[in-house]
Amino acid sequence: MKPYVYIAHPIPAHVEAYIAEHCEYKIWNDENKKVPQDQLKEELKSADGAILTGYDVDETLLADAENLKVVSTVSVGYDRYDTAALKKHNVYGTHTPHVLDETVADLIFGLVLSGGRRIAELHEYVKGGHWGLEPDSAFYGYDIHQRTLGLIGMGRIGEKIAKRARFGFDMDIRYYNRSRKPEMEEKYDAVRLELDDLLAQADFVVLIVPLTEATHQLIGERELQLMKSSAVLINGARGPVVDEEAVVQALKEETIFSAALDVFENEPLPKDHPLLSLRNVTLTPHIGSATRETDEAMMMRAAENMVQGVFGDTPQNVIKELR
Ligand code: NAP
Repeated sequence: MKPYVYIAHPIPAHVEAYIAEHCEYKIWNDENKKVPQDQLKEELKSADGAILTGYDVDETLLADAENLKVVSTVSVGYDRYDTAALKKHNVYGTHTPHVLDETVADLIFGLVLSGGRRIAELHEYVKGGHWGLEPDSAFYGYDIHQRTLGLIGMGRIGEKIAKRARFGFDMDIRYYNRSRKPEMEEKYDAVRLELDDLLAQADFVVLIVPLTEATHQLIGERELQLMKSSAVLINGARGPVVDEEAVVQALKEETIFSAALDVFENEPLPKDHPLLSLRNVTLTPHIGSATRETDEAMMMRAAENMVQGVFGDTPQNVIKELR
């Protein structure tokens, strides 16, 4: 008998065909609604494996999932997976590193450009039927090239951002990272700094660390005050890595120049959120990896991880804490 797996969101036909070769399966095909928690718990009772992205995988969910051997997320970040609970229940948690690095770095560079040159803000201005005198100092932004990029997180994606910044825009790279990265220092002339020094020196501060207890609200009021008044804050990591209220305050008071954010404390961003009424922000709806090729590659990778796990093999992308 084939193993049985549950997939909690729609997947492309070729990924479904791959899963069908190896497993019996059920898919939740509603793009606009998530599986209700009770139903998900019920579905997992008989599942050997699952693809669960955007769900909290914790003790409550795992308690009755007696056959479960593996859960896969279609993302590199796995902050919604409780690694202690997975370990306790002897379930592999897997993610999709590498395949999305360049795509996410592209988006983040878009945010760098928009934050510095006010692209989103001025797009709204033109769409509102406005124009300006030429040249108009009211439209001035800041150069990107030859300025200083402060990377918070020099991991897989951090490196791809550094590559774009160094070789595409001739920027100076400063980084803050848990461990030193001599290879990055060599390749990109990157200089490792303490967080406070990086915040004081950087023109563009880019967050690309995982959300953990240690990085929760890494950037708050104190840290924002250390940044230059001309600096741009880019968050491509996870919403709670910054204190969102403090960011709103800094933008209102213009103690920093602008922010460009792909991730938020609560997603979707609530309709009355103060960020929505600010001029000096660029906002995108958590789309770091959202290109067709990359999304499909991530889904295939998640499916492969799941299939490997249900057949008793070690999946290729087990999350670090469970290896
Ligand atoms: P990665 O390769 O694991 O890199 C993360 C880096 O952060 C590592 O170099 C790590 O240091 C460093 N780090 C971890 N905790 C730290 C701490 N407390 N202080 C300082 N540095 C710390 O991960 P990645 O693939 O680059 O992805 C990074 C994150 O980006 C993901 O976890 C996810 O949350 C986010 N992301 C967002 C999107 C989006 O759509 N916006 C898309 C993809 C990823 P060590 O090397 O010393 O471990």
